[in-house]
Amino acid sequence: MKAYRCWAEIDLGALERNLGRIRAALPPHMQYVAVVKADAYGHGMPRMVARLMQSGASMFAVANVYEGAELREVGRGWPILVLGPVLPEEERCLAEYELTATVSTPEEVERLAAAAQRANTILPVHLKIDTGMGRLGVWHEEAAGLYRKIMATPALKLAGIFTHFSSADADPDFTNEQRNRFLRVLESLPEPAPRDLLIHADNSAGLETLSPESPFNAVRVGLLQFGCLPYPDSFLAELKPEPVLSFHTRVGITKHLPAGTGISYGQTRHLERDSRLGVLTAGYGDGIPTTASNRAQVLIRGRRCPVLGRVTMDQTIVDLTDVPEAQAGDNVTIIGRQGAEEIGVQEFSRWADCIPWEAFCSITKRVPRLYTTPREL
Ligand SMILES: *Cc1c(COP(=O)(O)O)cnc(C)c1O
Repeated sequence: MKAYRCWAEIDLGALERNLGRIRAALPPHMQYVAVVKADAYGHGMPRMVARLMQSGASMFAVANVYEGAELREVGRGWPILVLGPVLPEEERCLAEYELTATVSTPEEVERLAAAAQRANTILPVHLKIDTGMGRLGVWHEEAAGLYRKIMATPALKLAGIFTHFSSADADPDFTNEQRNRFLRVLESLPEPAPRDLLIHADNSAGLETLSPESPFNAVRVGLLQFGCLPYPDSFLAELKPEPVLSFHTRVGITKHLPAGTGISYGQTRHLERDSRLGVLTAGYGDGIPTTASNRAQVLIRGRRCPVLGRVTMDQTIVDLTDVPEAQAGDNVTIIGRQGAEEIGVQEFSRWADCIPWEAFCSITKRVPRLYTTPREL
């Protein structure tokens, strides 16, 4: 058996069950756009996508054309929406890999139309509406003009209209305002929309405000399908999403040091008692951010052990004083469950002073992803 110093276990069965639960909670006409940007939030895009394709995803969304091209290698036929802007030298990838671009400006419409003509094809595009986030999208009050321009461009096919609810996890009033702005755009389109137009707005947190009478016919789900709630007390907990990823390392050495000893770079911590320490074989070079220094806990032999001092690039020091049976080689869980104890990615990201999306994306490429389907073994 190969030994690992730091690894992530990815439960493909949990991914499939999460998708099933989310789909079951949605109105039947909703298409499920699986958001798999940033290597499927660090879970490993190709394996996640292959499983999602078998489990009922209607479509995929990625950040850029390179992610789109890589995804296209996994399978043909599924539409792939590129959420980010396409740079001029990337335009030819759209036709080559059958990708759908997002457009926000008249200039993009012209550039993509020229690219479609060069490739002798018609390119599908989704029109993005800025309903208040101030990032991508045409400002909602100017959307009608850009809509008309796309409709009048034969080299482009309008395949969708969408917006992004940037505060769905934190500010229901603002989200409601965004929703109303989006609905006003949809109601006031200057000419009839194509029949098969996809209309979408909701991300994981937005699902909470999705009504059965919603005029939307697609959702874009990232975080929730990986088993993480968009915020801790979300009612989406009723869906009982299962964590897909767990994050592990090992105890490298154990040793005793006397009270008063300063620990790690910067000596930000001095031992309050004679202590037994464990030096773990993972650090910020693997995905335990330095912001977790002196704050995070890990599970060893089913017990919570606090991180002592600064997290370093390749090692992290923990307090093993209360777990005397722990020894070199032991498995350590950074995110995940050991017996009755569990550290979720929400708890981990509070310690790391980041958001769960970021915690997933911070697990580096040094960390092998091991794919398991425990229930099927
Ligand atoms: C990343 C992203 C999503 C997915 O958001 P989650 O909160 O992970 O569900 C949806 N839409 C857009 C535009 C995104 O960039």
